Amino acid sequence: MSEPLIPPKKKDPLLNTRAGHVPPALRSRAAKAMAARAGQGRFVLQACEDCAHVTYPPRDRCPKCWGALTWQDQPRGAVIEAETTIKASTDLFFRNHLPWRIGSARLDAGSMAIVHLHGDVNQGDRVRMEIKLDRGGNPALFALPEKETLNMADDPQLRVFTADPKYRRILVTDGRGPVGQAVAEALVKAGAKTVFLGNNDRLMRYPGQEQIEAMEGIEPVPLSIADSRSTEALAAQLGGRVDIVVNTAQHTRGGGVGFGGKLSDLQTGLDLEVSGLMRLAQAFAPAMSGRSDDGTNAAAAFVDVASIFGLSGKAGYAGAAAAAAARLSLIAGLRGEMAQTGIRVMSVLTGPIDDAWHQDIPPPKTAPVQIARAVVSALQQGQETICAGQVAKEIFGRWQADPLLTIREETQ
Ligand SMILES: [Zn+2]
Repeated sequence: MSEPLIPPKKKDPLLNTRAGHVPPALRSRAAKAMAARAGQGRFVLQACEDCAHVTYPPRDRCPKCWGALTWQDQPRGAVIEAETTIKASTDLFFRNHLPWRIGSARLDAGSMAIVHLHGDVNQGDRVRMEIKLDRGGNPALFALPEKETLNMADDPQLRVFTADPKYRRILVTDGRGPVGQAVAEALVKAGAKTVFLGNNDRLMRYPGQEQIEAMEGIEPVPLSIADSRSTEALAAQLGGRVDIVVNTAQHTRGGGVGFGGKLSDLQTGLDLEVSGLMRLAQAFAPAMSGRSDDGTNAAAAFVDVASIFGLSGKAGYAGAAAAAAARLSLIAGLRGEMAQTGIRVMSVLTGPIDDAWHQDIPPPKTAPVQIARAVVSALQQGQETICAGQVAKEIFGRWQADPLLTIREETQ
């Protein structure tokens, strides 16, 4: 079993915050290709097209026959053949996290690999392998116990590779809608210390308000990300106390491009969803970046919940799809910037949400609880891109196989 995580003590304001170094970057194209797949939770390794040899770490050609390599999903099992504990390192990141256990694993996929070890994994054990992204976004093999162990997620080495909500303080931007409320509730249940729940109009009551605000761990805060002053004021007030930001803002209205769409709806949507995302990032990202290695409740992640139709467009919802497309682009840019400072940036992709604004779309739709589950899972796994519910999964699968065909299918 792992030692249970201890709730962090109040911080001594006179102490320096530990600088958030990130592990050294892997710059090869093959390493980036592995990271892109690992970010979706897949376990992939390169296999040779000629001799079928499976190889790790990522490289450009087969080390046995010089053949071309392709990425393939692989079995996750392995056996740990040797282990060692690193007690000294010149790397700035690892120096702060010593001692650090690694081992060599014989992968069921057919090759040997140097891997990071969970505290409950020992020499000779059968393990379950995952490809985790380190805080700089580089892929690394991590060996987990084959079966769930007590306090497994609290393992200090594993926690470096995730953004687990346990004991963290989290801002959810829009508490007025069912998505924000479901996300807030799920985060409290997953062990978050505090969920700051945004409300853009304190004078107007909203459905579900009494119930969600009465919940232990929920702290309502005034926030309108459509307003720079409101966003900056909250960031100044919460200062260095937000470890995770989850943006659930959305403004979905029906209408086409040349037919039936209202320009005012488009402008409101772009201001809230696109400019709003940038306001939020500019207000919170710098302070978070300074606290990315600040102990148990270090700042860890920036999560954006956006429509899957940002990838494909959507007939009858042109403006909403355009706002989602811009969000996905901004999030990709932010991910690159935050990787330098050790904060994870995640996208939760949703299908049409089961609410009043998607009445014209036939079922199946995505329920707010499915989105909440995806947010918690992405944080617990350290996953970059995750689909909430079947509709988003199905569209994402088609889009990966053939992006242009999916655009045609969704817009014609
Ligand atoms: Zn080969």
